[in-house]
Amino acid sequence: MAVPKRKVSPSRRDKRRAHDALEARNYQECSNCGELKLPHIVCGSCGHYNGREVFEVGL
Ligand SMILES: [Zn+2]
Repeated sequence: MAVPKRKVSPSRRDKRRAHDALEARNYQECSNCGELKLPHIVCGSCGHYNGREVFEVGL
């Protein structure tokens, strides 16, 4: 099995992790119900996408 020759130094490890932080998701308002939803994804609260109902919510 291939094994790293040297331990990764704390500096190098921390530089790698500099990009690991989570960013806020860019929610936008649903054009049908006004709930916050992610773009390009059907609205979870009213089931609408691109101006039409894709699935029924709550039965
Ligand atoms: Zn909606």
